[in-house]
Amino acid sequence: MVELSIHYGAIVQVIFLIYFCSRKSSLRLRGNVVYFRILIFSLISLIADLGSIYAIIYSDSLPEFFVMAVCKFYLISLILIAGMCYLYLIVDLNQWGSYQLLWWGGNSFFVLGVLFVGLLPIKKFFDGKQLYTYGPAVLTTYVFCVCYFIAMVAAAIAYRKRMNRRRMVSVFAFIGVMMVAVVIQFFNNYLLLVGFATALGLTVMFAEIENPDFYIDRESGAFSAHALMEFMEELFAKNKTFSGLNITLTAENELLGREEQKILLISVADFLTKYKKSRVFRNVGNEFAVIFEKEEDLYDVLADLEGFLSAPIQTETGEIRVRAKYLIMPDSSLARSANDVFIFRSFLLSLGLESERVVVDEETVKTLKRKEEIRTLVREAIDEERVAVYYQPIYSTQTHKFSSAEALVRILNSDGSIISPGHFIPVAEETGQIVELGEIVFRKVCQFIKEHDIKAMGMEYIEVNLSVAQCEKETLAEDFGRILKEYDVEPGQINLEITETASMEAKEVLLQNMHDFMERGIKFSLDDFGTGQSNLNYIMSMPVDIVKFDYSITRDYFVNARAKYVVENMVNMVQQMGMEVVAEGVETKEQLEEFSSLGVDFIQGYYFSRPIPQDSFCDFIRENNQ
Ligand code: C2E
Ligand code: CA
Ligand code: CA
Repeated sequence: MVELSIHYGAIVQVIFLIYFCSRKSSLRLRGNVVYFRILIFSLISLIADLGSIYAIIYSDSLPEFFVMAVCKFYLISLILIAGMCYLYLIVDLNQWGSYQLLWWGGNSFFVLGVLFVGLLPIKKFFDGKQLYTYGPAVLTTYVFCVCYFIAMVAAAIAYRKRMNRRRMVSVFAFIGVMMVAVVIQFFNNYLLLVGFATALGLTVMFAEIENPDFYIDRESGAFSAHALMEFMEELFAKNKTFSGLNITLTAENELLGREEQKILLISVADFLTKYKKSRVFRNVGNEFAVIFEKEEDLYDVLADLEGFLSAPIQTETGEIRVRAKYLIMPDSSLARSANDVFIFRSFLLSLGLESERVVVDEETVKTLKRKEEIRTLVREAIDEERVAVYYQPIYSTQTHKFSSAEALVRILNSDGSIISPGHFIPVAEETGQIVELGEIVFRKVCQFIKEHDIKAMGMEYIEVNLSVAQCEKETLAEDFGRILKEYDVEPGQINLEITETASMEAKEVLLQNMHDFMERGIKFSLDDFGTGQSNLNYIMSMPVDIVKFDYSITRDYFVNARAKYVVENMVNMVQQMGMEVVAEGVETKEQLEEFSSLGVDFIQGYYFSRPIPQDSFCDFIRENNQ
């Protein structure tokens, strides 16, 4: 007789797995749902297997039709499990265009299997000792299972890069265990091993990938950041729109201890998970993300949450006061993918949320997309070495020669056209790419000075622009000092331009850097003077040698009598403080003469030349500096 105790054990085990999977709150991602179906169908199959054994044993006292139906039902359940395994394997392809085809193909194939097994004849064998079924229906079942298996292997080979490795391993482990059991059972008919193998394989899948705890953030009890990504990917794949709320919490208490931190996370997570119409995820650090089906729900929860956080959170030793900033995305269709949503979030957070609520609307997305494009443009220009430096000559009113030049960055397009810095510098400042870009410019200038004897050309130094982000870098002076040495350039041949903004935003580090630079022998200019509205005394206290009057000053000087008076006095004042003055944006002969008679030390502008490539610049200087 067949030995059934192992089989009963397997049934109990599968029931346990079903219990574990349904007990915890779950995101019900497609993968989870299919796995759950595999569990249910396995249970049905195990019971049907048992049913068919008893039906065959007692077939003498049962109607023939009934015995055959039970046996066929068991066969169908096997095809169903094989089909589910196939669907389970391909769920990771859901971002991909032909996914629907693979999915519905797998489903219709199953219907075909049911039809065949239902219509074809089946035979049974029982001699009191051995027991099995055979015939066309059984053969068909094998064929269908093998077809599913072949499809799985093919899919796994073709799309392995898109598939979750763990899912692949677990589903093939399941099938592998089943196959071994089938072979053993084939030669030892009395050993009912397939049931045991089913339970074992399902447990492997559970342990490898399907444990609902994998999606839970341990600290807060909310879903994890990884779960957020998968959840959103699936919503996008299903074309379901949603609303998202990102919450960044900061404690007003100076520093939170580990315990307090935990209490904060748990109490906010508990508060948020009360709402059944949303899913709550813990992003990195003190950040939560909540996904809603409807926009109204988002605003309801947001209002409640603001109320909740307005009171301090009580701990055993005191209380935590929390400030929150909200990033609201009312409509997910502004993004094309989950990845887009993450990019929006990082970009907006990196800008530092200025107000309590920032809404990601069409306008924001447009700006973000533009910035993203520029970021890519800069990245590619750097990688493909399409960053160039143009030079604009600066005229000395005392020597009547071009005594210096300003280095200005350009990006060269592959078609030979150029992109002006106005287009990409502001974004590069935000993204921090300016630091890398600035170093490239500095190197190119050093290279230029090394290769051309600028002294012999009649020039003293080249001016290089420094951005705020560079001034904030503590190792800037050190890094640039090293580059100077590398190219063997005298520090006196470089002059660095800083702006008022840099001196405000990076004050401490900037002063330290300037100090460092000056010790090495590098001098400074204050750029764009006259554009801000900051304290003159403060600006004047910066250790600079040259003040560059912004071109707007040049403009104003010639249209406005009062401005003229102010500029005259400012030139005097700056010079009396021992600094020299550059007038920028001089475009006409009249402007040149007026500024020369005013005693402005240097003139820069289109009147003499636009910024030009290195070679044209050398020609220009040779022609004009004899
Ligand atoms: P900036 O430092 O004030 O540079 C002077 C800008 O005025 C240059 O624009 C120059 O072409 C333009 N200009 C010069 N003479 C005249 C004139 O007579 N009339 C008019 N209308 N414009 C004139 P450019 O090269 O497009 O650079 C724009 C800004 O980009 C620069 O302003 C600077 O803030 C930034 N920039 C350029 N190169 C670099 C760089 O290597 N690093 C950093 N951090 N910023 C740079
Ligand atoms: Ca400048
Ligand atoms: Ca300027």
